[in-house]
Amino acid sequence: MSSTTTPKVSRQDIRKIIFDNFNDTDYRFSNDEILGYLNEMDRYKAANLDVLDFEDVLLEMEESGFLRPIAQNFNTRYYKIMTELETKTCKDCNTVSWFAEAEEPKLCPQCRSKNMA
Ligand SMILES: [Zn+2]
Repeated sequence: MSSTTTPKVSRQDIRKIIFDNFNDTDYRFSNDEILGYLNEMDRYKAANLDVLDFEDVLLEMEESGFLRPIAQNFNTRYYKIMTELETKTCKDCNTVSWFAEAEEPKLCPQCRSKNMA
């Protein structure tokens, strides 16, 4: 249902932030912390982002079995990851992405190929 919508924030950027900073099942992190990292990226500096701007991306990750919501305080939501993200490279277009073990199918975000290794 949500696969045709383009979120304001790239799914790839959020995966990269989680992979680089929170890729441990013992870590607890929040959407506010993700927002902090997004705000440091050039492409979002002028965007004036709010946590609500990528709520849909996080919701998708909950539904795919990657993120586990553990607490909420107003708009701040806390998460843990179910399994660590692994780096995968698309054998068809060389795009690098990050997937949790539980996520099936692992589709290339660029060309939708399943040929990720
Ligand atoms: Zn690809």
